[in-house]
Amino acid sequence: MIDFPRRHRVPYHGRFRIGEFDTGPPKGSGTETRLENELKQSVDRLDELQRKLFADQRHALLAVFQAMDAAGKDSTIRKVFSGVNPAGFRVHAFGRPSELELRHDFLQRVAARLPERGKIGIFNRSHYEEVLVVRVHPGALAAQNLPEAGGKGFWEARFDSIREFERHLARNGTVVVKFWLNVSRNEQKKRLLERIEDPEKNWKFRLGDLDDRALWDDYQAAYEAMLRATSRPYAPWYAIPADDKDYMRATVARILVETLECMDPRYPRLRAAQRRELQQGRRRLLAE
Ligand code: ADP
Repeated sequence: MIDFPRRHRVPYHGRFRIGEFDTGPPKGSGTETRLENELKQSVDRLDELQRKLFADQRHALLAVFQAMDAAGKDSTIRKVFSGVNPAGFRVHAFGRPSELELRHDFLQRVAARLPERGKIGIFNRSHYEEVLVVRVHPGALAAQNLPEAGGKGFWEARFDSIREFERHLARNGTVVVKFWLNVSRNEQKKRLLERIEDPEKNWKFRLGDLDDRALWDDYQAAYEAMLRATSRPYAPWYAIPADDKDYMRATVARILVETLECMDPRYPRLRAAQRRELQQGRRRLLAE
């Protein structure tokens, strides 16, 4: 099992309140320039590590991103992976399920988009929407037409499914690491207002986002239950303070670097036959 980095990792014991996690960076976390430099170093290192991950062909890495609107999922993904070979990673954004997806079990569409060995998969929203938006909006659950929707133990059973799914992935070489970008209610308001005031951001604004904002407390309760039930040693959650974007990005990048370093990807050792081939190749090329 991977010895996941500790900073900002959500405890595995499940006894905490969501309000205990910081939305702002810790004191002394550095100036904007320092954080930008740190991000840059991690971005380069991620590229190196991904190449080894590919050569090694033992593991895949799945990074899950969940957050309230305007927490900065998209820009974090864009910046953190900006240096990685585009052939080495793939981002999937999960929106409202289609009619067909609704007729499948809730893990089907995520299972179909998992990264293969050697690759990094990024989920912008994920199966966790199934215990967040679906929990907060009863209509979303009704649309799934399940035999025992919302009954006693329903959400616990859903957490069980998720834990088992992720444990199965871990056993089979997919390292799962999950980021909750923890933005404060005030900062969200500021960013949503910016979307209204700044013409270049207008396209991002949806009135519906305010309906979700109005359900802030319900969402916090759903996040709390989810974090408690699903931060586990084989697939931890990280609570990333999201009010300062530079800190958030540098921190996500560093955690990914440290996780990949723990996975210890290596270039494969050459077998004797391959070594002979290299020698033959050298002789032939030099003889031309
Ligand atoms: P984003 O807000 O991530 O930029 P969109 O604006 O396309 O992306 O929003 C996607 C929407 O789809 C979100 O409101 C999200 O809650 C919703 N969604 C995602 N997964 C599910 C699901 N399984 N069931 C219902 N709604 C979902």
